[in-house]
Amino acid sequence: MTTNPINSTVDFERDGVQHGWLELPYSRDDSAWGAVMIPITVIKNRRGPTALLTGGNHGDEYEGPTALFELAGALRSEAVRGRVIIVPAMNYPAFRAARRTSPIDSGNMNRVFPGRPDGTVTEKIADYFQRTLLPMADYVLDIHSGGKTLVFLPFAAVHRLEDRALQARCEAAMEAFGAPYSMTLLEIDASGMYDTAAEQMGKVFLSTELGGGGTTTPETLALARQGTHNFLIQAGILDGEVAPSKTLRLDMPDGRCYVTSRSSGLIAYCVGLGEQVREGDVVARVYDVERTGCSPVTYHAGRNGILVGRHFPGLVQMGDVVAVVAQPVL
Ligand code: CA
Repeated sequence: MTTNPINSTVDFERDGVQHGWLELPYSRDDSAWGAVMIPITVIKNRRGPTALLTGGNHGDEYEGPTALFELAGALRSEAVRGRVIIVPAMNYPAFRAARRTSPIDSGNMNRVFPGRPDGTVTEKIADYFQRTLLPMADYVLDIHSGGKTLVFLPFAAVHRLEDRALQARCEAAMEAFGAPYSMTLLEIDASGMYDTAAEQMGKVFLSTELGGGGTTTPETLALARQGTHNFLIQAGILDGEVAPSKTLRLDMPDGRCYVTSRSSGLIAYCVGLGEQVREGDVVARVYDVERTGCSPVTYHAGRNGILVGRHFPGLVQMGDVVAVVAQPVL
């Protein structure tokens, strides 16, 4: 197998706090022998498990990068038992461009795993996570939110796994994270995901959707900070107690949880995030903007539940996810 060209300026085996970069050679017009410099922090002390914390898997989601740049600057090695590896912005070119995908190769980090050491920039980053960072980790937290085109109720999420013992450990991490909602998430397409790569290696993997619209709020940031802290306590890396918090368990049993647009135009929501819907209820109307005098196209909930996610911008295109409905687990 080809060696990955990324050079880490930090030593993962050294005790203490190190701030550095994953240095990825990227020759281009404005820098012939240049590199993409992806910030990384490693904090190691005593013996214990390793947690790998990431944000910016999608470059237009900000709770993860904000909470993790903060944590990287604040966490002291004396507080750590084991090792914490922090990459605040995983798809760094996408993050710098405020885009979901990379401006270099259009790579969507969460669709290219396991990556390629001789592939595109995005594929090389994925390969470095796949073959270098993930194998070092016991606990993996990847903080997402909706980005510029989606917005969610704040939830932490696990997947249904064949390995039920691993799923139970992921669920324990989700409980500890302490988001107002805890989701068993059904992916539209799980292939190529970082999540799947980590789960297949048997890692305790937790992801989140903490808001969206391409920005943060004080509430979603507070949740990202507290949830990350709780995650590290639950992993046994930080001392302390996880304060018990109320969370509503949600499930997505099948594809009817997703409502997809079959038209384009102006979208008018009839239901807000967190509100209950019954199967068949109108969740949104889409107005044709190419002519006047047309009736809007109505979109209906495919099942009973609550609205946990929706399209964010005021205009929709055909094929956009309009609504995500999940079912409370009582
Ligand atoms: Ca995302």
